[in-house]
Amino acid sequence: MIGGGQLARMMIPPAVALGLELRVLAETEGSSAGLAATAVGDYRDAATVLAFARGVDVVTFDHEHVPQEVLAELVAAGVAVHPGPEALAVARDKILMRRRLSELGAPIPAWAVVTDAGELAAFLAEQGGRAVVKTPRGGYDGKGVRVVTRPEEVADWFAEAGASAEGADGSPAGLLAEAFVPFRRELAQQVARRPSGQVVAWPLVETVQRDGVCAEVTAPAPGAEASAPGSTGDLAARAEALATRIAEGLGVTGALAVELFETAEGELLVNELAMRPHNSGHWSIDGAVTSQFEQHLRAVADLPLGDPAPTAAWSVMVNVLGGPSGQTMLDRYPAAMAAQPAAKLHSYDKSSRPGRKVGHVTVTGDDLESVRAQARAAAAFFQG
Ligand code: ADP
Repeated sequence: MIGGGQLARMMIPPAVALGLELRVLAETEGSSAGLAATAVGDYRDAATVLAFARGVDVVTFDHEHVPQEVLAELVAAGVAVHPGPEALAVARDKILMRRRLSELGAPIPAWAVVTDAGELAAFLAEQGGRAVVKTPRGGYDGKGVRVVTRPEEVADWFAEAGASAEGADGSPAGLLAEAFVPFRRELAQQVARRPSGQVVAWPLVETVQRDGVCAEVTAPAPGAEASAPGSTGDLAARAEALATRIAEGLGVTGALAVELFETAEGELLVNELAMRPHNSGHWSIDGAVTSQFEQHLRAVADLPLGDPAPTAAWSVMVNVLGGPSGQTMLDRYPAAMAAQPAAKLHSYDKSSRPGRKVGHVTVTGDDLESVRAQARAAAAFFQG
């Protein structure tokens, strides 16, 4: 596993259960994944990554930032890499992502590549004066996303290197401009795909973002089944078919999360892709027969995939963001455990900073309102 964040950390328990030896190349000492056998090194350095890869059977990732030329060297050296470089390039760069999704005929917001203020002004005029501008690379948790009405609002991004020149590895120049989608809600569809082709899908989930950061996930997405009251048709089936088409079309191996907007008319538009376990699937640790972490390991090892079915009517996952500075979630575990014994607590062993994802809480059960209330109450112990 390249990257020692919380995704690598949450991969450890299923790796133990599956009898797979997990080794991690972490960026720093004391990473979230430090409980696994961990080497420390720079994932941008080909020699470091190659030396790490020589000791393992398959390489996978907890982020999409490994440079394309490093991935190419791994493949040239005969290392099994999942997901592969071609698929990962699409997850790393939002302009490439929009291009490939357009080629696949996937529904996406109207978009354009803009390399200067004039091009953005023209796009804004087409879009009725408002658009969303994104830096193609390196963004996460809403960093690198701005809703703008005037080109000057992203003057700093245009000034940065890369806005007007193609990257050394062929990454496109410019910023991504897209239509502002007045969505009804945000959804996410996760699937996993083995190199040999098997695909399985978890239920469609509803996600709530605050300030561009995932705050809460409800599985399954309320009202998504054709039979549900107030349903906009077969949303769940359409999302599953779309994510499967994308996984197959891009040749994704491992877990794929497709972030979606549901429009007022009940249409689905693809916002983002992540080719790894994803925050929208953390509920599956406690609420599905096979979690996204176990499934990702099975998929990249090309083992038969597990049943993705939910084990409860409802699961609600609430992220713990920030919390008292200098503390970790563990400091408040006893109080939260005493008050919310049904809540499953997940600390990432990170010290708290405002807005930082330091853990999450999941509650499962039959009644959505009470499940949601318990999950929020448990998470609140850690935020104050
Ligand atoms: P990140 O890579 O930082 O997660 P995203 O592209 O997923 O960035 O955008 C973060 C959030 O910004 C989304 O979850 C959504 O709430 C909002 N957003 C992104 N694109 C649009 C859009 N075209 N229209 C409306 N809101 C958007």
